[in-house]
Amino acid sequence: MMNRRSFLKTAGLSAAATATVATPFSAMAESGKKLGHVVVIGGGFGGATAAKYLRMWSDGGVDVTLVERNPHFVSCPMSNLVIGGEKQMEDITVSYDGLVKNHGVKVIQASATGIDAGAKKVTLDNGETLSYDRLVLSPGIDFMSSKIGGLEGNEDKIPHAWKAGEQTVILRKQLEDMPDGGVFAMHIPKAPYRCPPGPYERACLVASYLKQHKPKSKVIVLDANEDIQSKKALFRKAWETHYKDILEYRPNNALLEVDVATKTAVMDFESVKADVLNVIPPQRAGAVAGMIGSDLINGLWVNVDWLTTEVKDVPGVHVIGDAAFPAPGMPKSGHMANQHAKVAAAAIIRLLEGKDPNPTPVVMNTCYSFVDPKNVVHVASVHQFNAEKHTFLKVDGSGGLSPAANQLEAKTAMSWAKNIWADMLA
Ligand SMILES: Cc1cc2nc3c(=O)[nH]c(=O)nc-3n(C[C@H](O)[C@H](O)[C@H](O)COP(=O)(O)OP(=O)(O)OC[C@H]3O[C@@H](n4cnc5c(N)ncnc54)[C@H](O)[C@@H]3O)c2cc1C
Repeated sequence: MMNRRSFLKTAGLSAAATATVATPFSAMAESGKKLGHVVVIGGGFGGATAAKYLRMWSDGGVDVTLVERNPHFVSCPMSNLVIGGEKQMEDITVSYDGLVKNHGVKVIQASATGIDAGAKKVTLDNGETLSYDRLVLSPGIDFMSSKIGGLEGNEDKIPHAWKAGEQTVILRKQLEDMPDGGVFAMHIPKAPYRCPPGPYERACLVASYLKQHKPKSKVIVLDANEDIQSKKALFRKAWETHYKDILEYRPNNALLEVDVATKTAVMDFESVKADVLNVIPPQRAGAVAGMIGSDLINGLWVNVDWLTTEVKDVPGVHVIGDAAFPAPGMPKSGHMANQHAKVAAAAIIRLLEGKDPNPTPVVMNTCYSFVDPKNVVHVASVHQFNAEKHTFLKVDGSGGLSPAANQLEAKTAMSWAKNIWADMLA
């Protein structure tokens, strides 16, 4: 597990990649002034960052309680490397101790089971009730497994591994147990889903593992979308160069049901029988987001005011990360959740001080994908708040794509991961 020491060792590397550009306005509160209590639910990329920055930027003026159901943070970014056998679970697991010791965040390991947004109270499964001045929700996504016949309740046999943790271990073990000459079939749901390039990266790393250890095997990618959702040309190039005989991509292939006993995926026009079946179900905002009584967009995602991340129809509650309905062109990524958190923390501090929030926040995204254990590609973008349209818009000409997969970016990708974990948790 990463500790504070190893964080600090890497903290100098590519720090700019995770530094916020969201606060040209000073978010720092007047030293020592008590501003109120903020409860944060969810200690992932969004929630942990918000908890830390609320404490740091208020100079201790905001009391912060972070409610997280898991004992440790386990990173989805880099979890495909665990599935491919290049990393271990401890390499992607980080303690919450830094938030407590270094920043004075109160961390409660529990599940939030109810929210009364009128009374400003949260109830937890351990029987506790917390009162707040402002609430931040960063619960990530939940899976709509019931949309795929036969899947619900069988995720231990047909894992998604789209929340890193136990599921990552199950999928890795299934891959290790797969016979040479077997079939690994994976299904990608219709966008929007968490991490647009993530499934294609997974296909690469699984194919890479099979090529080395079980070369007679095959990877079949069943995509409900009509094409690759991110870094298309770069993934296609990698597949043609390295995985031509092992990986088969079948777009426009929405999964209807699964047969758990035979590990068969049933689509409209075909069925695929696999030795390992990895189904990423369609997704929605984590259940706790549904507890605030907000009118969810498409019944799935929370509608937020991007200037502050406050929920449009529920004052005092901020939703960040994957659970929010994104601004145009904004990906559901850990990097973006980290940036939302900084917009939220800065706005909350100013609102608690009775001041206007920064009128011109800027956020950015970078996302790295391994096309094999040594070569990586990235996509990046910058998003500026547009006052007229009252949302973030992509800055023309910002960001870009790797020209080709390369080894230097593999180093940068690992530094990015260590730095963003440090930015959230150290
Ligand atoms: C395989 C894969 C690879 C990825 N690679 C990248 C990448 O390279 N770069 C990148 O930027 N992003 C990547 N992502 C996406 C990234 O993981 C998500 O976008 C990010 O985790 C979203 O942050 P979040 O805070 O919204 O949710 P999360 O990080 O999922 O955090 C939500 C937290 O809330 C907790 N929680 C939920 N409900 C409750 C409750 N009721 N009570 C208490 N706790 C609760 C959960 O336990 C969880 O810890 C990847 C994702 C996957 C699956």
